[in-house]
Amino acid sequence: MTYDLDHPEIREAVAKLCVGFPGAYWRRCDREQAYPTEFVMALTEAGYLSALIPEEYGGLELPISAGCAILEEIHRSGGNAAACHAQMYTMGTLLRHGSEDQKRRYLPEIAQGALRLQAFGVTEPTSGTDTTALRTTARRDGDRYIVNGQKIWTSRAEHSDLMLLLARTTPRKDCAKRTDGLSVFLVDMRAVRGNSLTIRPIRAMMNHSTTELFFDDMPVPAANLIGEEGKGFRYILSGMNAERILIAAECVGDAKWFTATAIAYARERSVFGRPIGQNQGVQFPIATAYAQMRAAELMLREAVRLYEAGGNPGEEANLAKMLCADASWAAAEACLQTHGGFGFAEEYDVERKYRETRLYQVAPISTNMILSYIAEHVLGMPRSY
Ligand SMILES: Cc1cc2nc3c(=O)[nH]c(=O)nc-3n(C[C@H](O)[C@H](O)[C@H](O)COP(=O)(O)OP(=O)(O)OC[C@H]3O[C@@H](n4cnc5c(N)ncnc54)[C@H](O)[C@@H]3O)c2cc1C
Repeated sequence: MTYDLDHPEIREAVAKLCVGFPGAYWRRCDREQAYPTEFVMALTEAGYLSALIPEEYGGLELPISAGCAILEEIHRSGGNAAACHAQMYTMGTLLRHGSEDQKRRYLPEIAQGALRLQAFGVTEPTSGTDTTALRTTARRDGDRYIVNGQKIWTSRAEHSDLMLLLARTTPRKDCAKRTDGLSVFLVDMRAVRGNSLTIRPIRAMMNHSTTELFFDDMPVPAANLIGEEGKGFRYILSGMNAERILIAAECVGDAKWFTATAIAYARERSVFGRPIGQNQGVQFPIATAYAQMRAAELMLREAVRLYEAGGNPGEEANLAKMLCADASWAAAEACLQTHGGFGFAEEYDVERKYRETRLYQVAPISTNMILSYIAEHVLGMPRSY
């Protein structure tokens, strides 16, 4: 089956759904740091969060370009998919590396939205980007593992039933390679929350439902180990390109929102007896951001094309994530500047979107790490860390 990379029918339907969630809705959630439950429910009911799950497990079995179209549209309309995008792709690790039993047990309910798998516990306070130095351990004890340690920035943990957790099962000193000895678990948080699992919300610059987690002898059934023990790092890596591509689409959506919002304001705001948009000093940053977005979007399309052809395009997915994040940031800057003082007023949504899109320079991967990947793996320069 072939698909139109643009998916106009999906975009139109998502845009229509988003009309029900205007700026006022997102402003209220932002002000109260509240989870956008109604929005997530509407997306779930429309089936969009099951887009990438195969039909045999109850999903829509759409290609990644459809996932991109959905996320881009949400952001282009002024919303934010961060509350639920992980429900779309975290299941990829289970789908690719889980046993048939695990897939049959969890995927149909994830596809329905009855089960939420949208927490992803990798980052730790001490190790940060150096994932293989993480300190959370999982020790085998009969038919279960006992987990001890801590995670930080585990987003949506309070709004998720399941969590994909990366923990060390073999001490680093006993491993031939530092990437060995890490394992992935599907943790049913409902069974341990409030007992051996403590979840503490982190108030952050933007409304992101992010948390820190503490594991205190947390039991996880051995049946919930994904794939083979000790191979978890590569399982997590194998999902990174899809994540980069989908996040890049959100950035393109943000860039389009900022550009459209800046243009509308530049046309309508009159100072010195003429629209501010008549000044080239106002036009050029918007035009530059637009050019950046178009170029970044082409790289994203290339990454999607290669991915859908069955490849695992590390170079293009990383470039797309970096270029799209830079384009959304340039558009955010141009939009805020165009609005002058009003750019700082909550009711225009510009300052909210500005805070939200800034995140992409740091998470889910920071720009330096992408440049490092390109320098080493694409350009063949020596590894720097
Ligand atoms: C709102 C939010 C939500 C998040 N959600 C999740 C989540 O759901 N799950 C999860 O596991 N993580 C999550 N993260 C974590 C995120 O992936 C990390 O913050 C990010 O990867 C950077 O890690 P760090 O914060 O530990 O920074 P550090 O690793 O401490 O790095 C700090 C800075 O130094 C730079 N740096 C570090 N080492 C090098 C080097 N060798 N060369 C050049 N520069 C370097 C980095 O690029 C960065 O700019 C989230 C973060 C935020 C802020």
